[in-house]
Amino acid sequence: MKQLIYLFTISLLLFSSCRSYQAKTYDFPKPVDTTDKPIEVQTKKQYSFPQGVYADNLFDGARLNNFKFMDDNKFQATISPENFPINNSAYYAFRVWSDAPKTIQVELNYSKHGHRYPPKISRDGENWEALDSTLIQLAADSVNVFLTLDVNSDKLWVAAQEIQNTTHVKQWCEEKSQHANVLLSSIGKSKMGKDLWLLDIHDGDVRKKDVIVIMSRQHPPEVTGYFAMQAFLDEILKDQPLSNAFRKKYRVLVFPLMNPDGVDMGHWRHNAGGVDPNRDWAYYHQPENRQIANFIVKTVKQNKSDVILGLDFHSTYWDVYYTMREIPKHLPHFKDYWLGGINQSLGEEPNEKDSNLGGPVSKNWIYTQFDAVGITYEIGDSTPREFIKEKGKVSATEMMQLLIFKGE
Ligand SMILES: [Zn+2]
Repeated sequence: MKQLIYLFTISLLLFSSCRSYQAKTYDFPKPVDTTDKPIEVQTKKQYSFPQGVYADNLFDGARLNNFKFMDDNKFQATISPENFPINNSAYYAFRVWSDAPKTIQVELNYSKHGHRYPPKISRDGENWEALDSTLIQLAADSVNVFLTLDVNSDKLWVAAQEIQNTTHVKQWCEEKSQHANVLLSSIGKSKMGKDLWLLDIHDGDVRKKDVIVIMSRQHPPEVTGYFAMQAFLDEILKDQPLSNAFRKKYRVLVFPLMNPDGVDMGHWRHNAGGVDPNRDWAYYHQPENRQIANFIVKTVKQNKSDVILGLDFHSTYWDVYYTMREIPKHLPHFKDYWLGGINQSLGEEPNEKDSNLGGPVSKNWIYTQFDAVGITYEIGDSTPREFIKEKGKVSATEMMQLLIFKGE
């Protein structure tokens, strides 16, 4: 009998400790249904025309739902989202080329939603430049646009934003993992079996170290936020007194590619489950959110640590910080000092939009789960790329100074 009670107690303890390593569900004031929705998967193919013109979407991160001949040297590219309803993030990416050099016109034909991203072009898929604005003409309906493109036998890449697919991100992660204080791992797999990368940054013992969570690319086209996150990390990883002291004192868990399926499938916003991942931070219906949420909770509990801050990098029409009005237990005053410091360093007008706790987005999850500060760090779609780097760097410096010297 004694043995039975002993076994029962042990199993109860095991059961409760396992349970406590799971992220908590939370009933937000504005819930969202994040169970799987059907998506339209684009047909991957090369389009060929008797005029000796070709187009394709045969690469990760492409979005081209159809490409057809209209007349003369005019073509129409159909661009549609993975499903509806969806925010207008009318993302496109394809290649076009021809047997003989010629000038063609390509209409970007969007279903329902209108043009958002000024086209970028590339000859190698790596180096990008903006298509000259004189070569972009808004259609009379103000929805679609006509692009004038010089094509030849070299493939011309045309995309809404610089392409940063899973291969690019993996390569970047591997570069960063050369640093002695960076551990690269995959904490799980997406719905389509792609890695969920983690860069675990710290110097020395992780026990009881306060944790900062960094996220990026919940929304596939939002590469400008990703660029800011890259510059932010570069500053943290620098060999300089502030960064070195920071890595000794804190641990940073970085999830650089939260939605790898959506990124490679060229989605406008959702994951392979047809859901906005940044609305699934309550019941974790999506495998990416569920695994990442549980991983963070488990990691901090195992090490008797606290998450004190969460920054989620996104893009929208302009630079803005989405913050919350609730005052968290951890770093209650950090947000105001930090944003003030960044704005002062950059000589910018602060652009902060605060709100009460609403829907199941990541910043609210950081607050409800850890009683910590959550901030959505948004960079404009067209913010100059050099400025993004500067802003990422300044944001990291200001954060490290506050956390090292001022305690909060
Ligand atoms: Zn976003």
